[in-house]
Amino acid sequence: MAETTQLTEAVQALSDIVKMNTANDHEQLVADYLAALLKDHGIESKMIEYAPGRVNLVAEIGDGNGPVIALDGHEDTVALGDMSKWTEEPLAAEIKDNRLYGRGVTDMKSGLMAEVFALIALHDQEVPLHGTVRFMATVGEEMNHLGAEQLTELGYANDIQTLICGEPSGADKRLLLTKPIQAMLGVDPDTAKKMADANPTTEQHFIELAHKGSLTYSVHAHGVAAHSSMPEIGKNAIDMLMTYYQKQTAYFESFKTIVNSILGPTVPVVTLISGGEQVNTVPASAEMSVKIRTIPEMRNDKIIMELERIIAECNEAGANLTLDIASSFYPVHTQEDTQLVQLAKKVGEQVLQQRLPYFGAPGGTDASSYIVTSPDMEVIVFGPGNITAHQVDEYVDLDMYAKFITIYQQMITELLA
Ligand SMILES: [Zn+2]
Repeated sequence: MAETTQLTEAVQALSDIVKMNTANDHEQLVADYLAALLKDHGIESKMIEYAPGRVNLVAEIGDGNGPVIALDGHEDTVALGDMSKWTEEPLAAEIKDNRLYGRGVTDMKSGLMAEVFALIALHDQEVPLHGTVRFMATVGEEMNHLGAEQLTELGYANDIQTLICGEPSGADKRLLLTKPIQAMLGVDPDTAKKMADANPTTEQHFIELAHKGSLTYSVHAHGVAAHSSMPEIGKNAIDMLMTYYQKQTAYFESFKTIVNSILGPTVPVVTLISGGEQVNTVPASAEMSVKIRTIPEMRNDKIIMELERIIAECNEAGANLTLDIASSFYPVHTQEDTQLVQLAKKVGEQVLQQRLPYFGAPGGTDASSYIVTSPDMEVIVFGPGNITAHQVDEYVDLDMYAKFITIYQQMITELLA
């Protein structure tokens, strides 16, 4: 009976925050709601403002005598998208066939709220916790992890040993029968069908133990304009940039064979290039932007050092180039034999009633920010949502939502026993 009451409260709370429009702003609505909910259950929290209307929340439980386990989730969502394409209203939190629909419910208000209710259950049941559970609800994750960057700067990540990020980790299990998912898992159609048949739930989940980082930068070439009939008195910025471009290409080629076992290689893409002012003028400026998806074997700091070296080399030869780092988020990779991954597998397989394959994702999470100050932190991404993130008719399966409350609760109980 108690469990039924709790579940109803958990679904109600999820529905309440899905109705709040936190598309890239106004996260304070969710932070205020979470603070009140936690307070109702006797848990104090701290609000950390990022900007007016944008507030992170941190709440802790445990006796403080042991490791720090962080539960992370973001309060923002991506834009609502084309409203006419939604079958259900994106902010109505409609429930149909045991699915709750709405923008951000999969990515990741259900994961966020599952963490909150795990915290509440542990606290209400007075489970002995030798250490600290730090719940962190962040702003602006979808826009360069603004909140996680701020919390890291303020020192909230310094002592984290273990991080569970509740981003979506599932997919409708019928997708196991499709080629892309089979390729992703590296299984043949037969094995995939057996997996789907042996799974009594509607979803297949994965333990995401790695994801790529990203590095976004631009290189500016500063030349001197001159009439194109007298190029010798000018300095051609496009020529400078092209010389750099060739060296950069050779550098990118050099690390093609360095491959992470789960994430694959580093993937650089030159995404923008522009230069020059008009057809009869020696160009005074040119610039190029690059986005690199990074792996732990070729971390961002290592790449930046090499780019700086190439630029210095060009400048010594007479160029005038500058490097501008727009953003830098670190990759994460936790080994399969760690306590965290093994525990997630044991608890997750039992609660979700399915085999849980490991997975590495191309996109990032708040973990990329936290790991900068805690490089040895163990991280998994494991949460109730599915691959409808960022899509129209985004939903969460309510059984998965309930199961993840149990999973987080059991994992923390064991981690801080
Ligand atoms: Zn997300």
